[in-house]
Amino acid sequence: MQDYDAQFKNLADDAPFEQMPVMPNMLDGDSQLKFRCHRGVKCWNACCSNIDITLTPYDILRLKNHLGMSSGEFLQKYTVPYEIDKDGTPGVKLRSVDGGTACQFMVEEGCSVYQDRPTACRYYPVALLSVRRSDEYVDRLSFALVQEKTCFGHQEPDTQTIDQYREGQGATEYDEKGRGWRQLILKKKSAGPAIGKPPVITNQLFFMANYDLDRFRAFVISDSFNKTYDIPVEQMAELVADDEKLMAFGFDFLRHVLFGEKCLTEKDGAYEARIERLKAKAEAIRAEFEANRDQIEDEKYCAPPGQPGDCGCGSES
Ligand code: SF4
Ligand code: SF4
Repeated sequence: MQDYDAQFKNLADDAPFEQMPVMPNMLDGDSQLKFRCHRGVKCWNACCSNIDITLTPYDILRLKNHLGMSSGEFLQKYTVPYEIDKDGTPGVKLRSVDGGTACQFMVEEGCSVYQDRPTACRYYPVALLSVRRSDEYVDRLSFALVQEKTCFGHQEPDTQTIDQYREGQGATEYDEKGRGWRQLILKKKSAGPAIGKPPVITNQLFFMANYDLDRFRAFVISDSFNKTYDIPVEQMAELVADDEKLMAFGFDFLRHVLFGEKCLTEKDGAYEARIERLKAKAEAIRAEFEANRDQIEDEKYCAPPGQPGDCGCGSES
């Protein structure tokens, strides 16, 4: 153990806290990365034995199709929900094995879903930081190095740029496909207190459109959706048949409903119909209140127990 610690002294000493292995330097794609992971390292599978992996919508799409299951089944079996921010924006993490910290996909040979492994697994030991300046509409990718004592890949002599590493891991494709989701989160964060704590339905829509793709598909083909939005027949056919197109449409749908961006076309009269529905709902609540008003008054001013007018509530007021 002493020998093990000595090997990592220089790496670990740079970390601000022992339990925080992310190095405090922002890196870019041209930064050099000295690292190699291969079957021969003595820490083989150490990283997959103690996981904390956030999943993007594209990660879920790839994994559920790899496993041949619906998004709902995948979410239930392989994920745990968490809140991304103080507004309760929903996120999803990979669920570890029952009673342990190891990934359910870890096998002796390595990763049993390697071709479709999540973005975070492709990046390790690089952390992806997606940042957006307040005066910009696009996010920029920055990176940081994660140096954990348990990872011996840093001791290998191989050197490459972070961009070369990302390319080799297939991470660039994942970044591209996950970009709409990252932008939604950045936008939600930068909207800040002006937007306030969103209603529950907002987070439910956010969860469904981003993570539960098969349920979102059912929503998109429903009558109520099609009464509101004007989706050309050809596009609707693509959304039904193509998960990736549906996912990208989900990002647009959320920008439309959460931020008022005109990403979708609403049918003529859809806005007015929505207002009418809300009015009808308000009227139903008012009518219910009126219908129960007498009872409410009786309960408030009921006669003493045993006297005429006693409602039986026990109050003497
Ligand atoms: S998905 Fe694969 S690479 Fe990622 S933690 Fe699990 S076993 Fe490891
Ligand atoms: S701990 Fe590092 S070197 Fe070891 S298997 Fe994981 S990524 Fe590879």
